[in-house]
Amino acid sequence: MWDLRRELCEYGRRAADLGLVIGTSGNLSVRKGDLVAVTPSGVALDRLRPEDCPIVDIEGRLVEGDSRPSSETPMHLAVYASTGAQAVVHTHSVFATVVATTMTELPPIHYNALLLGGAVRVAPYATYGTPELAENVRAALTGKQGALLANHGGVTIGPTLEKAFEATRLLEWLCEVYVRALGVGTPAVLSEEQLAAVVERALNPPG
Ligand SMILES: [Zn+2]
Repeated sequence: MWDLRRELCEYGRRAADLGLVIGTSGNLSVRKGDLVAVTPSGVALDRLRPEDCPIVDIEGRLVEGDSRPSSETPMHLAVYASTGAQAVVHTHSVFATVVATTMTELPPIHYNALLLGGAVRVAPYATYGTPELAENVRAALTGKQGALLANHGGVTIGPTLEKAFEATRLLEWLCEVYVRALGVGTPAVLSEEQLAAVVERALNPPG
């Protein structure tokens, strides 16, 4: 699990460097079998050391480490219990939070939204760290690689921490494009047919 704890530090630092997290906000986790390495509560993500990252089992019991697991650990565990994800990234990045504060869904205005499963749902608001928020996020992620948390931020999942992290960057980019497009006019939303044509082309590239 040491490699996974090192990975948490690496991506924690990258999240801070890219401005996706500020201070101690945001949390990451990565799973191996029935164990989950998670970022600790109350430590800035750009200052993490591998030994700071606790390891919990899939029920949330502390297995190793001296630090308290992130307060959002129940959300991470709910996601692992209901998806095949091996990593979860949660941030309060600016544009994701802007959209999550004003809308109930981020519509697909760019075909790259398909990488997250198309339209991105906004999970209804619940207090951070609660089972209610964990359940709302689990439901919003059904069939998706990312979701927004009302008045809170965003969350993405992936088969590796790298992929979950890239999904968070994409979610933030899609939210930024949407918000900036609103400043220019009314963003056109891609139709089901247009999205299906993208999937068709990706599956059958022209020879
Ligand atoms: Zn949060």
